[in-house]
Amino acid sequence: AGTHSFEKSAMSQGEQAQTRAMKSLAAVLLVAILLQLAGCSPPPDPVTCTDGTSNCTVTNTYGSFTDRTICHAANVVYPSTEQELVAAVAAAASAKRKMKVATKHSHSGPKLACPGGSEGTIISTTRLNRTVSIDAERQLITVESGMVLRDLIQAAAAAGLSLPHSPYWYGLTIGGLLATGAHGSGLWGKGGAVHEYVVGLRIVTPAPACDGFAMVRELGADHPDLDAAKVSLGVVGVVSQVTLALQPLFKRSVTFVERNESDFTAQVAEWGRLHEFADMIWQPQHNKVIYREDDRVDVSAPGNGVGGLFLFRSVPTALLVGGRAIEEQLQENGTDIARCAAEQEGATRQLPAFGFTNDGISFTGYPIVGYQHRIQASGSCIDGPEDALLSSCAWDPRIRGSFMYNSGFSVALSKAPAFIADMLNLRDLNPDAFCGALDGRVGLVLRYVKASSAYLGKHEDSIDVDILFYRSRTDGMPHAHADVVDEIEQMALGKYGGLPHWGKNRNFAFDGAIARYPKADKFLKVKSRYDPDGLFSSEWTDQVLGINGTPNIIENRCAIEGLCICSDDSHCAPEQGYFCRLGKVYKKARVCSSEEDY
Ligand SMILES: Cc1cc2nc3c(=O)[nH]c(=O)nc-3n(C[C@H](O)[C@H](O)[C@H](O)COP(=O)(O)OP(=O)(O)OC[C@H]3O[C@@H](n4cnc5c(N)ncnc54)[C@H](O)[C@@H]3O)c2cc1C
Repeated sequence: AGTHSFEKSAMSQGEQAQTRAMKSLAAVLLVAILLQLAGCSPPPDPVTCTDGTSNCTVTNTYGSFTDRTICHAANVVYPSTEQELVAAVAAAASAKRKMKVATKHSHSGPKLACPGGSEGTIISTTRLNRTVSIDAERQLITVESGMVLRDLIQAAAAAGLSLPHSPYWYGLTIGGLLATGAHGSGLWGKGGAVHEYVVGLRIVTPAPACDGFAMVRELGADHPDLDAAKVSLGVVGVVSQVTLALQPLFKRSVTFVERNESDFTAQVAEWGRLHEFADMIWQPQHNKVIYREDDRVDVSAPGNGVGGLFLFRSVPTALLVGGRAIEEQLQENGTDIARCAAEQEGATRQLPAFGFTNDGISFTGYPIVGYQHRIQASGSCIDGPEDALLSSCAWDPRIRGSFMYNSGFSVALSKAPAFIADMLNLRDLNPDAFCGALDGRVGLVLRYVKASSAYLGKHEDSIDVDILFYRSRTDGMPHAHADVVDEIEQMALGKYGGLPHWGKNRNFAFDGAIARYPKADKFLKVKSRYDPDGLFSSEWTDQVLGINGTPNIIENRCAIEGLCICSDDSHCAPEQGYFCRLGKVYKKARVCSSEEDY
């Protein structure tokens, strides 16, 4: 199973034209990336106001939350010290006004950055971006919460220290990535999630009038409330400063090993035990798995490699727009044959080693050895000097470039082999469907996260699955084989008790998820103590925390938009031949399937 049935002779003229266009585009894109563009327009501020700092909106890095809305707020404040932060919280609390932190780039897909209602206060952490202290001897760093990961890992390295794990994209802030439980990959030691390395927080919460309406709470490593405050969805207050336990600076040695899928189900539980920074990329349309063999090596090991993941580099905007136009055509009017051909062609032209290089410029062979801070995360598309949108991050909302969904969910390691077996079965039923269903440039990324004491963290060692896939710019427009990702997600969450990543996913993934967190009640108790009036809570956080309402929005085509699981054909797109059907492997799934596939 899994071999593509496309033959050039079987393609229509239109398909051949689509494929040719895709080929030339992929070639130009590759050249552009190889040339390493000097500039890159950094992403726009997610907060904009019509009247100075009043009458504002907040969105995310894609310019579109999962329900395609943007949020309104009465005003924004930009504290640059903890004192100013306390004053900002006090001002909102004394007026009983809702408030919420927005970060420099606002990466979460769901509406986490929105204050409740439409008259709240946005507290931007953009100016809270300094290192407070570094204690090289005790291997501790304390930073302000708006600091982006790039600056944090560089500051640590400059002091001869490493943050052992982090997300792979360095544009996230430490406050935002902790609040959503963000992670890299690893099962050794404390594992791949950043919150495992937090040993102290200073958090500003509302307070009674007699205490001036706001207070700073200092939570040390042994403080029980730290388990609520480190993964908090931003609902217990504003984290002002974070102290992280670091390790002596080390290097890593990385090799991406490509193998067939024959032992994928067995390897999923094992690979993470074999290599400290192991992950896996499943490319279902190519029947292969790319195993990341990634281990710590001594700092004296030769090598100055860089983890410049191609997805996070700047790209000329003209190419992004052209590429998107072809993608839209393939998605909305193309055939499996054309989509698989385009995908295959793109794969042959990809940068080697996903863009990792041995010296910051080119890939010359494995292993790639480099300092932890240069390997663990990348994101050069936020670094460049402003170039008037000649180039940008691929998803920059100011251009009509890439527009994707990002689903992320974890499955307990003990259940991962069965989950993988189910996904393989689903793929085998129609391998070509996966060409259109997923973003073929990467595939499904599987990363390891360890069980955590954080109340909203993982309660078991888990594999975290990440899927990027096409999102139409037209509300309610189905994309090719949308039922594939829908079934995988419903299977992970429903059959295997998976947990959605707080900062990714579409609405339906969060429905009822809080019931699968055994310590959710402890979290809610801390929340009511720290913020009894729920000033940091919003409609969205109340829905996902099971306090009030549901994240589902039931309306025509809601399942196409990921706002619901379909229970009626009208939740799909019957006019375009998409009907609500049973899953093909997980029969309890309800997915929007095209008539042609069923
Ligand atoms: C390109 C890209 C790559 C990504 N890579 C990874 C990855 O490798 N691994 C991974 O796990 N995730 C990844 N993510 C998801 C990402 O981790 C989460 O979306 C993360 O929360 C975003 O961080 P942010 O700084 O943008 O925070 P935001 O999305 O702006 O904020 C998230 C939440 O945190 C709250 N918050 C922020 N700062 C504070 C504070 N100081 N005090 C209290 N609350 C606060 C906000 O109010 C909001 O509720 C990626 C996302 C993108 C777009």
